[in-house]
Amino acid sequence: MRYAIANTDLEEQWKRIQERLLDEYGEATYTSWLKPLYIVDHSEGCMRLAAPNPFMRDWVKNNYAERIKTLLQSENDNILQLNVIVGEKADDKQPPEQPILDVPEFVSNLDTRFTFENFIVGKPNELAHAAARKVAESETVTFNPLFLYGGVGLGKTHLMHAIAWQIKKCHPKRKVIYLSAEKFMYQFVRALRFKDTVSFKEQFRSVDVLMIDDVQFISGKESTQEEFFHTFNALVDQNRQIIISADKSPSDLEGMEERLKSRLGWGLVADIHPTTYELRLGILQSKAEQMNASVPQKVLEFLAHKISSNVRELEGALTRVVAHSTLVGRDITLDTTQDVLRDLLRANDRRVTIDEIQKKVAEYFSIRFSDMHSPRRSRSVARPRQVAMYLCKQLTSRSLPEIGRKFGGRDHTTVLHAVKKVEELMGEEKNMCEDIELLRRMLES
Ligand code: ADP
Ligand code: MG
Repeated sequence: MRYAIANTDLEEQWKRIQERLLDEYGEATYTSWLKPLYIVDHSEGCMRLAAPNPFMRDWVKNNYAERIKTLLQSENDNILQLNVIVGEKADDKQPPEQPILDVPEFVSNLDTRFTFENFIVGKPNELAHAAARKVAESETVTFNPLFLYGGVGLGKTHLMHAIAWQIKKCHPKRKVIYLSAEKFMYQFVRALRFKDTVSFKEQFRSVDVLMIDDVQFISGKESTQEEFFHTFNALVDQNRQIIISADKSPSDLEGMEERLKSRLGWGLVADIHPTTYELRLGILQSKAEQMNASVPQKVLEFLAHKISSNVRELEGALTRVVAHSTLVGRDITLDTTQDVLRDLLRANDRRVTIDEIQKKVAEYFSIRFSDMHSPRRSRSVARPRQVAMYLCKQLTSRSLPEIGRKFGGRDHTTVLHAVKKVEELMGEEKNMCEDIELLRRMLES
């Protein structure tokens, strides 16, 4: 018997919690760390969960236990405490029968929508895109590794999958492995546990193309870095292609060994910048087409303006708007859009206040915070003030009169003029676009 206390209710609850965890953390994390957990017993308000080994126990404790506890308590208010221990489940003592990485796993790792055809190219991602295409299509290794980096939801994973699909199409014989750094680490730990590191090494070192996504995950994980470093070198020595993604540039990766950082920067480092309004609009148009939905241009523009943090959120918003219109059988309008996305738009607004914008902009242009409110009209303070007004209009839900009041009691027409002026300048000056994007990025992070 697996449980000290047989309790079908508890099992049912645990199943539901597992589904939630899968939902919240995604397939990779769930399979690696959460799925192997099981209930040992529950007595006097203390629930005990077991992990297969001490390493996993510690990892779960540090990263997921709080969330699991909250979910447990929402299912069962008898539970006061959660303890994670090392347990032995009969079927866990056998080494895996299947090879660590098999081909079906590789294919199921890839999202069919993440192709080059579906990737919209714009200024912020053109270098990364060109490099990805080059790597996918060329016969020889040109730069090694290709290192892609950028913020969350800007298309790193999409590009990596696109490379994999393209290689499968053009060079079906090439052995390609794509996996997250988290999975790499998990496989490595598992190999250690089953004393199977030899075949682990062989499998990784026999590939033509190795792609590791979100490599920042192994920051601070020394033995995994060590193993990765050796795999990396072995592949580079054999002239095999490596593609890495991360949320920061190699030199900015904290908790990474120096020699690994330097090695990661040897090839081509391509960053993906935050999206511009034009790129967001282009992505929305293409997604709306893919969904076969007729979405008014005004609505697409509204979304591209309001949701600027990342593409994932942008897509989510569009999907919601389209789904809503299909469900209730009504056309999409600006009004219904604002209504359907009320919570999301408010959450985006809540991120910044007018005060914060004024402070950041003043700092950025090296003027005094008080200049935001002062009547001074010299160009050196007037332009930054206009930029701040523009950002207030874009990033908050305040009305023009409200914004005017916060800028030393100015009239709403002044704010309107500022917004128009900045838009005009953005059309003419590259510098202005960059200033705005940078400020937006700083304010929204
Ligand atoms: P990251 O790995 O950088 O966090 P993803 O690659 O997962 O981001 O992208 C998040 C979502 O945004 C995906 O659904 C992806 O298809 C979409 N996306 C990002 N950039 C683009 C783009 N340039 N064109 C089309 N879709 C994009
Ligand atoms: Mg990703």
